[in-house]
Amino acid sequence: LTVGVVRESRAGETRVALVPKLVERLTGRGLRIVVESGAGAAARLADEDFERAGARIGDAWATDVVLKVAPPTEVEITRLARGTVLIGFLAPLSDVDGVRALREAGVTAFAMESVPRISRAQAMDALSSQSGVAGYRATLLAARRLPRFFPMLTTAAGTVPPAKVLVLGAGVAGLQALATAKRLGAQATGYDVRPEVAEQVRSVGAQWLDLGIEAVGEGGYARELTAEERAEQQRRLTEAITGFDVVITTALVPGRRAPTLVTEEAVRGMRAGSVVVDLAGESGGNCALTQPGAEVVAHDVTICAPLNLPAEMPVHASELYARNLTELLELLVDAEGRLALDFSDEIVAGACVAGAPEAERAEVD
Ligand code: NAD
Repeated sequence: LTVGVVRESRAGETRVALVPKLVERLTGRGLRIVVESGAGAAARLADEDFERAGARIGDAWATDVVLKVAPPTEVEITRLARGTVLIGFLAPLSDVDGVRALREAGVTAFAMESVPRISRAQAMDALSSQSGVAGYRATLLAARRLPRFFPMLTTAAGTVPPAKVLVLGAGVAGLQALATAKRLGAQATGYDVRPEVAEQVRSVGAQWLDLGIEAVGEGGYARELTAEERAEQQRRLTEAITGFDVVITTALVPGRRAPTLVTEEAVRGMRAGSVVVDLAGESGGNCALTQPGAEVVAHDVTICAPLNLPAEMPVHASELYARNLTELLELLVDAEGRLALDFSDEIVAGACVAGAPEAERAEVD
């Protein structure tokens, strides 16, 4: 079985889907790895690094299994032969056209976002690994933009109080943002609508903000708030936010527009020079003034909505992603290194967004 590692072509994408250490592991399982020249360059991995690990530099698109990071562009889809297996982030809930194009191209596609979040699949959870990177970078970005110190300082020139950081949405990204803020010496506070998160927030040394609104949904995720709950949440948050120098938002509800947690009134209430980092930009943003992909200043508050923070840290982001992807790939091949797609396995079936099961279902229909 040949496995291709292609060079990402989307603007700003610096990650690569496989790293040399894992090339060795996969070749040990009888797979032949073909890497497109320059695929790892932005992640500081030279072609020679891959070759030394046992890969061949060549046409990675003409392989049985193509490994990617970002969803393929229209042009990239035309490079995939019918019957190819594709594994990568495919944005199945938001890029319906892209997934349809893969189906029409006869590609069997596995979306990293669709890997079920069960214990057995934990090592394949790329949403978590990349969210962790994003949360870390979000705090660093906030610290850079804030015209104040994060830690408390006691110096001969005076005492500086610690910055107050509020993280809205304490999932994987939020918890890492809180932990990073703590490590930088800030006073960190976390908020979420899932009450079970309180303990996790406290475990990273942060305080828990309780606004008395609970919204637990399916599969461990939050549900969308009702209109009344939303209005009440915004009102209470607007009041709470005035006391913070930094607000980092990460609140998402799968398949929905991101909830608006920070209204314009809340921004207006923040102290001059404060910073909002909105990680939900891709889903519309958690701040009413967010411009996805841009940095704006409104009411003397800087609002940043970076769209691909993991790409700012491609070395570790790629290593973690490659490990997630390798674990999934290994589930798709048998002991002899042949493709063996077992759709009775909930991970295989759950992650597959285009290909065999759809075709079978279509026949039954
Ligand atoms: P996410 O990225 O979908 O959302 C981020 C956070 O935003 C969540 O904590 C959510 O509760 C919160 N949120 C949504 N709407 C909100 C609102 N209106 N106000 C405030 N907060 C709001 O979530 P995630 O980080 O991917 O993780 C979500 C869940 O999945 C967690 O319970 C996590 O433990 C679980 N998880 C399980 C596994 C596993 O078992 N393999 C792996 C990772 C995460």
